[in-house]
Amino acid sequence: MLAITIKDVLEAQERISRVVKRTPLLRSSTFSEWSGFEVFLKAENLQKTGSFKFRGASNKVMSLSPEEGRKGVVTGSSGNHGQAVACVAARFGYGATVVMPEGGSPAKAASIKGYDANLIYCGTTSQERLAFAEKLRKDRGAVFIHPYDDPLVMAGQGTAGLEIIEDLEDASVVLAPTGGCGLISGIAVAVKEKKPGIKVFGVEPAGSNSTGLSYRNGRRTALDKIETVADGIRTTIPGELTFPLVQKYVDGMIEVTDGEILYAQRMLLERCKLLAEPTGAVALAAILSGALARFTKGGKVVALLSGGNVAMPQLAEYLLRTGQNA
Ligand SMILES: *Cc1c(COP(=O)(O)O)cnc(C)c1O
Repeated sequence: MLAITIKDVLEAQERISRVVKRTPLLRSSTFSEWSGFEVFLKAENLQKTGSFKFRGASNKVMSLSPEEGRKGVVTGSSGNHGQAVACVAARFGYGATVVMPEGGSPAKAASIKGYDANLIYCGTTSQERLAFAEKLRKDRGAVFIHPYDDPLVMAGQGTAGLEIIEDLEDASVVLAPTGGCGLISGIAVAVKEKKPGIKVFGVEPAGSNSTGLSYRNGRRTALDKIETVADGIRTTIPGELTFPLVQKYVDGMIEVTDGEILYAQRMLLERCKLLAEPTGAVALAAILSGALARFTKGGKVVALLSGGNVAMPQLAEYLLRTGQNA
């Protein structure tokens, strides 16, 4: 049994459309000229809280009964998912607790606190954080919101896919980054069930390629080492619920290097005036690097820009790093 169907994605769209931004699909003539594709960018970096994670978190939170909501929500992710959960919980007046690693980024802590969530520091590994979140769930009855392995979260992310095909019926390819695979699984269900002719590819850094590895092996396979600048997708293994959908619907997995990711990030800023975090530029990197051209040629290609949350001093460093090849 697969975790979600197109019906779940359509229901999610109905449920969250009044809180989620309909982000623009922007055509880039520069990237089209450079690549030989007609390139479109789904600007989820402009989504509320700065990433598509707001879609899944909203769908989960808006599915709770008032009784459940009163007991609050909890998550173990301090990044984009934590911000999204904190923001949507605040909007509905539900308490949110985000369990962060000790020594976690002060910028992320500040942004989560800005949404009035409780911050708890616990351990350094995701296992320690998840164990703590689980304890809160047991003690207080709080609802745990997983960053990807939850059908409501996956269906929420899939609404970005529905918008893409509404705006560009004759797309030939949709590209999205993969971490735990909540995003790609939701998008693939939406796109393939509505428009089976459109190809869906996942993109990941060569130094964090657990989805591609699992895809080729035909079973979930863990990495024991991860090395990439794309900090939103340092995932050692794809999700239990998400991966079967990747196997069923995704047409292929593409790898890009950190250099290609930072170059794409820089070009987004320089040419399109769009700010992406490195992870947010991964899908575009597959186009600009020539990697996609090894799978398919020509046609209308959509790269999903998944997020734009990056601290300014960090951004300055990234830009300096790519200064030589620009
Ligand atoms: C979470 C995240 C991803 C990966 O999403 P998954 O559902 O874990 O595959 C990609 N980009 C950004 C910016 C993210 O925050």
